[in-house]
Amino acid sequence: MSKKPGPLFSAPPSAGAATDPLPAPAIRVRVLVEAPQHSGLTGPLDYLAAESLPPGALVRVPLGRRTVTGVVWDSPAPGGEVWSADQLKPVAEVLPDLPPLPLAWRQLIKFAATYYQRSLGEMAMMVLPPELRQLDAVQWSRRFKRLTKALATPASEPDAVEALPNLTPEQQVVLDALALPVTPEEGTPAPATYLLWGSTGSGKTEVYLRQADRALQAGRQVLLMVPEINLTPQLEARVAARFAGRNIVSLHSGLTPAQRLRNWMLAHLGLADIVLGTRLAVFTPLPRLGLVVVDEEHDPSYKQQDGARYSARDLAVYRGQLEKVPVLLGSATPSLETWFNALPQAEGGAGRYQRLTMPSRVGQGAMPRVRRLDLSREPKPRLGQEAPALAQALLDAIAERVARGEQSLVLLNRRGYAPVLQCSDCGWKSECMQCSAFRVFHKVDRTLRCHHCGLTDRVPRACPHCGNLDIHPVGRGTEKLEEQLALALPDARVGRIDADVTKLKGALEDKLASVHAGEVDILVGTQMVAKGHDFRRITLVAAVNPDAALFASDFRAAERQFALLLQAAGRAGRDASVAEGSEMWVQTWHPDHPLYAALARYDYEFFASQQLKERQMAGLPPYAHLAMLRAEGKTQEAAQGFLVEAAQRVEALAADLGGILLYPPVPTAVQRVANIERAQMLIEAESRPALQRLLVRSTEHWLALAQQHRPRGLVRWAVDVDPLAI
Ligand code: ADP
Ligand code: ZN
Ligand code: ZN
Repeated sequence: MSKKPGPLFSAPPSAGAATDPLPAPAIRVRVLVEAPQHSGLTGPLDYLAAESLPPGALVRVPLGRRTVTGVVWDSPAPGGEVWSADQLKPVAEVLPDLPPLPLAWRQLIKFAATYYQRSLGEMAMMVLPPELRQLDAVQWSRRFKRLTKALATPASEPDAVEALPNLTPEQQVVLDALALPVTPEEGTPAPATYLLWGSTGSGKTEVYLRQADRALQAGRQVLLMVPEINLTPQLEARVAARFAGRNIVSLHSGLTPAQRLRNWMLAHLGLADIVLGTRLAVFTPLPRLGLVVVDEEHDPSYKQQDGARYSARDLAVYRGQLEKVPVLLGSATPSLETWFNALPQAEGGAGRYQRLTMPSRVGQGAMPRVRRLDLSREPKPRLGQEAPALAQALLDAIAERVARGEQSLVLLNRRGYAPVLQCSDCGWKSECMQCSAFRVFHKVDRTLRCHHCGLTDRVPRACPHCGNLDIHPVGRGTEKLEEQLALALPDARVGRIDADVTKLKGALEDKLASVHAGEVDILVGTQMVAKGHDFRRITLVAAVNPDAALFASDFRAAERQFALLLQAAGRAGRDASVAEGSEMWVQTWHPDHPLYAALARYDYEFFASQQLKERQMAGLPPYAHLAMLRAEGKTQEAAQGFLVEAAQRVEALAADLGGILLYPPVPTAVQRVANIERAQMLIEAESRPALQRLLVRSTEHWLALAQQHRPRGLVRWAVDVDPLAI
């Protein structure tokens, strides 16, 4: 969309800029600025420049009353047109010394914006380091000088080169299959996308490192992605030990803005050899990219859950094709989409990825034996009493480990002390005033906290409804479990890791270190501890209450639970000296459920084939393609009203395209958060291109519609393409 002639730009471009004042502007350039989808500005804006600017250059341009950073998108073909400052505003300044963002970067942004239905400007500006967007040319120059001076100091010489382990036969086979030319020839097809399907502890990381080494040897850069910031320090240490003397940088949301800018610059200038990062790292410009690795590719953290809801895993695959570099997706429990893509066509899959397998654990370590504890056979608690958190047999098993000096990991995916407080007299419950959810009782600071909107208050002395003094916690969270275990096993040292105890910077590292140092016998935790950590002395893992996922309405709940339990099991028996007799306990009311049966055999393949059958019958991904239209309003009617009309507007189009279903709008699972009502409408399509066409053509209708619905109480709306939760 072109910018209409604005008011005359009278002030001289940025007084005191480091660059010479720009001569009289004459050439039209198109610049992307941050403009959300909802503003209706979906494309670049027109500005004037004195000379043609290369696409990808960063500039400062006037926008309304502000001067903002933008990316030169493309220069219209030079024609005879001469523009003057009363027709278009001139570019204020160009950020000097910054190489333009490469074509591949711009193509990735364009794809992501189109696919996820966001404006180009929003997408582009969202993925640049926040600090880069705020500096003007003078500030930028100063920053750039400091940065280059710091770079002049040579990387430290490696003190001791780590001895390489001998590859296991499975690793060798995989690496032989991956031995492809690292620099693809001009005109050759893009290399394959690989799924490395390997058990936890099969040595996938070693494969990543060896393959990374090949790329580095060939003079290329490596992008190594992990799902969570928590997991970057461990991998960073391993990568640093292996590639001493190389430039390794990390990119994730836990960095300071200055660090993030620095690391991003090193990558963009081609000076960083390895970029280790979370989902946002997928957008890092890398001029010498030679390999992309996505570790734990199934992890939901790769999907951004607000704003531009992109999947970094899927974008990584796209980027690999675009830049002709191999992409290596690794997991013990691949997402069903990836599994389907890697399944040969002869086996009913798409045969799009190449599958590589490493079924065995390295060394003598074996996966723990899975024991399903049938809760229906446990003694019934006396009336009015709560069943114990752990069955006696499980408690005994843990006590045995404690006595032997081994560690246990007890998983409960609910933080806080108790999910709800209740009055024994009138039945009052600790509901959140602003959300359709209960507030959670946290005993440490005696607060009631809403895990949705954050509303926190001290626990009332008496029931706010009837004044009764007997209000009591119902149910159990990690805090209570920790307390009960300490009571039941007074000789054991019990520790806890969840989002509450790791809020402070460094707290998680400290907690993990104390587990590694053997200062904790029993570790209570949420899913946070199930991932990635290499605990050496854990020989028992217990899932306290995993049944809920079996009957959840979300079609991905089972897949996620299976991955979590298997990953948790992978924490046990990693050290061969204690692996013998390691166990994974599952407390359940449904010991014969197929999910647990498959888990007990560590049979991901069987589990996946069952799930795929169900998905195919139900018309769900990967056999169908989904988008969710979400709306938030002052009332449920406002939110749903918008969705109903949004569907009506595009019904005819959907019918034309064919194979598309628009479901009736429904309230979301937690329908009110912070006094805003939320609703959603599912769109299901047989083909991805049809879905994309529908969305592209619908967006303008919905934008206009949203304007009409704002006075009627619509607050926000968004499209979520390939939603994780429905
Ligand atoms: P995964 O990522 O598949 O869960 P890891 O890469 O963490 O597995 O490997 C598990 C353990 O095995 C690590 O301690 C790692 O150092 C070790 N390891 C990996 N490959 C080898 C090998 N070829 N020889 C000896 N030890 C290895
Ligand atoms: Zn009461
Ligand atoms: Zn709330």
